Amino acid sequence: MDASASPSRSITGHLRGALATARAAFRHTARLALDIALPTLCVSCREPVSGEGVCAACWSKLSFIAPPYCPRLGIPFVYDPGPDLLSMEAIANPPAYRRARAAVRYDDVARTLVHALKYQDRTDLAPAMGRWMARAGRELLADADALIPVPLHWRRGWSRRYNQSGALARAIERQSGVKLASEALRRVRPTQQQIGLSRSQRATNVQGAFKVAVPRQSDIAGRRVILVDDVLTSGATADACARALLRAKAAAVDVLVFARVVDTHKAPI
Ligand SMILES: [Zn+2]
Repeated sequence: MDASASPSRSITGHLRGALATARAAFRHTARLALDIALPTLCVSCREPVSGEGVCAACWSKLSFIAPPYCPRLGIPFVYDPGPDLLSMEAIANPPAYRRARAAVRYDDVARTLVHALKYQDRTDLAPAMGRWMARAGRELLADADALIPVPLHWRRGWSRRYNQSGALARAIERQSGVKLASEALRRVRPTQQQIGLSRSQRATNVQGAFKVAVPRQSDIAGRRVILVDDVLTSGATADACARALLRAKAAAVDVLVFARVVDTHKAPI
C-alpha cells in the first residue's frame, strides 16, 4: 500500500501518527503517575511487589545458573564431568575472551526483565539484576581490575537515553567494588540488530565495530577487565569487544552477563 498516493490518505496517515504519539505520551505520563501513587508492580506478572521489580513467584521461575558448568563458557552441564572439563562448544569455537558467566538462562521471565530494562526505562531492576550477576561472576570479579559495559552506538544511546549494560555494570560496581571504566570501549560504527541473523552473519555484523579510544588505552593496557552485557546469545558481540580490548593490550577479558541463551537453536530473542 502506498500511503502517499492520495493527499487525503497522507493527511490521515499524519493524523494517525500524531494520535499514536499523543497516546504514547499519555501512557508514559500515566505510568509515571501510577509509579508514584501505587507500589511497584512485578515486571513479569504485574502483581504488586514490595521492594524490587520481581515477585517471589516469578523469582522462583528464573533459572539461576549454578555449577556444574563449562569453566570457559559458563554453559551449564547436565551432569558433572569433573573439574576443568570444557564444553564441546568451547573446544569447537574457542572465544577471544577467557571466561563467561551468566546469572540466569535466557527464558521467558529473563526476557521480560531484559526487555523492561532495555525498552521500558525500568532502571529500578538494575540493582537486583546486578546483584545476581555479581554472585554468578564472583570468581571473575575476585581478580578483575575494571568493568567495561558493552557500548551502544551514540545514535542508539540517544534514542534509548541510557545504556542497559552501563546500568548493570554500575550495579555490579556497587556490589563488588570493581571500578567501572565506561568510556574506554566505543562502538565506532552502528551495527544492525543481531536478531534474526545466523551465527556467521552475527560475527560479520559486529566485526571491527568496537575500539578502545586512544586516550583511554592506559585504562585497559595490562589490566584484567570484565565485559558486562545483558544477554549472551552467539557470543559474537562479546567476542568482537574482547578482540578490541585485547588489541588495546588488556591482560585478560572475561564476560559477565545477566542471561545467556543455553540452546541457541531453541531460544531465539
Ligand atoms: Zn511476578
